[in-house]
Amino acid sequence: MQPSMIPLCVPFERRAEVAARGAVFDREEKCWVVVRDTAVGFEAFLPYRYRADRTAPYIRPWMVPQSLWGHNLRALLAKEDWDRIRKDTYARAGSRCRVCGGRGPKWAVEADEGWAYDDTRRIQTLKGVIALCPDCHAVRHWGKTMTEGRSEQALDWMVEINGWTRDQARQCADEAMALWHRRSDHTDWQCDITWAVRNYGVTPLEVGTRAARELNRKFVAQAQARFDARPDRRDDLDHHITHK
Ligand SMILES: [Zn+2]
Repeated sequence: MQPSMIPLCVPFERRAEVAARGAVFDREEKCWVVVRDTAVGFEAFLPYRYRADRTAPYIRPWMVPQSLWGHNLRALLAKEDWDRIRKDTYARAGSRCRVCGGRGPKWAVEADEGWAYDDTRRIQTLKGVIALCPDCHAVRHWGKTMTEGRSEQALDWMVEINGWTRDQARQCADEAMALWHRRSDHTDWQCDITWAVRNYGVTPLEVGTRAARELNRKFVAQAQARFDARPDRRDDLDHHITHK
């Protein structure tokens, strides 16, 4: 794609609308694009990094406290309900990343749950689900990315998307880790997925919380094993993963 062009997130049913406004379909990229200087009027379709009403950081680590690992829609809902939500998420974004407009080489986008944290009442509340490319998703799930030894690439991606220096990206990741440690000190976090109930009419599974707890134990064990296997292990995750 030419640097002067911007990718758009266009749901299939709105393609005629963007074509009428002057967007063109880039066959090679499999993507609707618009000339950067003529993007006015396309606000609803612009990835966050190109929107005038948003400022950097467009992507940063956003980590789930350890006691809530596994408490995601995939575990808490019936498979068909989660599939409906994530497929709708991909469709609404035209299978492009909502943050950068990109797509992955193997699969285009992944569904990312956006959580808000009430640090006083210790409630993690679902605010929405968005489509992210694998690179942006790896930044969001920083802890997993780090234990898999992919943090350098994720830092590079933050530099690229946010227009940051390497030091700024590192500082942001360090702050996210510190926040994660503070939140993970507590084991009484609750998870609120009312958003999915309200927007998709789903009913959380009765067995969902138990399944999530089992997943939590599995994820913690996996993270610990990956962490222990790292040749360059640091103390970042050690405090929680190896001593709880
Ligand atoms: Zn992206």
